[in-house]
Amino acid sequence: MSIIFGPIQSRRFGKSLGVDLSPGLKQCNFDCLYCELAPAKTMDSYTDVVPVPEIVSAIKDALKEHSDIDFITLTANGEPTLYPHLSDLIDEINTFKGKTKTLILSNAANIDDVNIQDALVKLDEVKLSLDCATQKCLEKLDRSHSGIEVENIKAGMLAFKKRYDGPLIIEILIVKTLNDSVEEIEKLNAFLLKLKPTRIDISSIDRPPSYAVQAVDYETLLKISHLFDASLPVYIASRKKAEISASAYSEEEILDTLSKRPLTQEDIDALFDTESQKRAEKLLNEQKIKAVLTNGVEFYKKA
Ligand code: SF4
Repeated sequence: MSIIFGPIQSRRFGKSLGVDLSPGLKQCNFDCLYCELAPAKTMDSYTDVVPVPEIVSAIKDALKEHSDIDFITLTANGEPTLYPHLSDLIDEINTFKGKTKTLILSNAANIDDVNIQDALVKLDEVKLSLDCATQKCLEKLDRSHSGIEVENIKAGMLAFKKRYDGPLIIEILIVKTLNDSVEEIEKLNAFLLKLKPTRIDISSIDRPPSYAVQAVDYETLLKISHLFDASLPVYIASRKKAEISASAYSEEEILDTLSKRPLTQEDIDALFDTESQKRAEKLLNEQKIKAVLTNGVEFYKKA
């Protein structure tokens, strides 16, 4: 169990220190078809809760070790807003984070909850997922916990946006035949015109998914991006490298990082210094890590 993972190269957030609020097991109110974690029963509250001081101490230790972190990213093996002490944890982080920014990656299922909004307004950036504009799509693609309504998510996003001054990024992950129809995109477009987020990232599956679903290719993403109103800042996510400096990773840290998130050779080259790359190669030879091909891209993950 490791609370900290990385630093990892985030697509658009530079060098990011991941904080896993559910390091022991997947705890999520969704069970998305494209999730890179193993399928799991959905839940509406954590059963396995790590105390705030333990998380804070792990973050402080990691910041001492890695001085050039751009973002402290709150995430989870599941949904971070289900962590019951989220607000207290953010208050604590804000006392020592200095210039490092804070970010949360949330599926937005709880964003209509005022207590969650109260916690999230204290972060520097908020990234919320919105794969679907319709209930049917939400239940099929994100396999949401019973009682979660897409209309409440939309209303919650609008209410949050009114209260929040920082960048609000919306992420839409497109899955072939599930949310790539013109009808679904038009409904997303209509809502996003009301929300006016800072940016909308559209992407497709690029890591091994938990269920047998397919990515759409870049050309399809491009066509989909053109279905959105030209006034909306739609960005097609690519795996282009951010300018970062490589860090030293022990064998244990490499295994921890790869167990959280599969990395490409490009990621490894960017993140690991020369000695750490040799360690990764050794672990590959010892079959402690393995290469997996998904959608034409080779990823390394813990064996
Ligand atoms: S919300 Fe995230 S963690 Fe939860 S099932 Fe979906 S992809 Fe996985």
